Amino acid sequence: MTNFGENILITGANRGIGLALVQQLAKINGIKHIFACCRDPDNAKELIKLYKAHFNVVLIKLDVQDDQTFDHAYNQVFKALQKHGGLNLLINNAGVLEKDGGSFDTPERKVFQKSFDINSTGVVMVTAKFLPLLQRAAANKERAIVANISSTGGSIGTAHKLPFNNVCYGMSKAALNYYTRMMSEYLKDSGIIFVAFCPGWVKTDMGGPNAILSPEESTSTLLNTISGLKTEDSGRYINRNGETIPD
Ligand code: NDP
Repeated sequence: MTNFGENILITGANRGIGLALVQQLAKINGIKHIFACCRDPDNAKELIKLYKAHFNVVLIKLDVQDDQTFDHAYNQVFKALQKHGGLNLLINNAGVLEKDGGSFDTPERKVFQKSFDINSTGVVMVTAKFLPLLQRAAANKERAIVANISSTGGSIGTAHKLPFNNVCYGMSKAALNYYTRMMSEYLKDSGIIFVAFCPGWVKTDMGGPNAILSPEESTSTLLNTISGLKTEDSGRYINRNGETIPD
């Protein structure tokens, strides 16, 4: 048994930070299932390689904007857990940063809607779907954690330091942080820990080539922090090292 528990689900697992999370978790002993979710598993080349190399990597189709993909994804997980097991860690990682249309001067409604749909509403929907399995883990006195991958871009407390060009990204992440805090209050005595993380500035399609961290550097620290989370951490908005980010 690891500090993550045996059963983990990650959204947006086909590239970037999500893929690096699967790669790192696959090396850890004691994890029975890594449910690697993505929109198009048939064409997720890197994930398919991991699936072939590691018995515990399970590929699942899940589009966080498409409720119709949820039932099948849930049933696959439910079946794999053999009706009794719980989900120990849900990493809501899927996210989008739209390059144009998210500013104050030339806002595009569709861009704002898409950002919120993926970065905040999508997390609400996915978490609600898998909550019974997280509750089952908590009821079994196992780890039960929801790690929402946010960004310092959603920090109102440090907004004066942020650029103005991606306001819709920051707004959608601030909404995600609010959701994380509210869920920790709503399910205070459930045994489920809700945390919002900034992974740092990471070299991915989103972070770009000038970013500071490799996906491996970011995710190894992030996973280390997740493994040490305690009940009293629920509701926190933190960086990958576990340090508080101003709301
Ligand atoms: P990438 O752009 O590299 O990857 C984004 C991932 O999200 C892809 O797997 C993508 O899948 C998936 N995704 C997008 N839309 C959906 C959807 N509707 N349903 C399911 N999956 C979807 O980004 P990163 O890996 O860099 O980012 C991961 C998370 O980290 C995001 O939440 C991001 O906001 C956050 N973050 C990243 C930072 C960075 O510097 N990179 C900094 C701060 C936060 P597909 O391939 O199908 O598009």
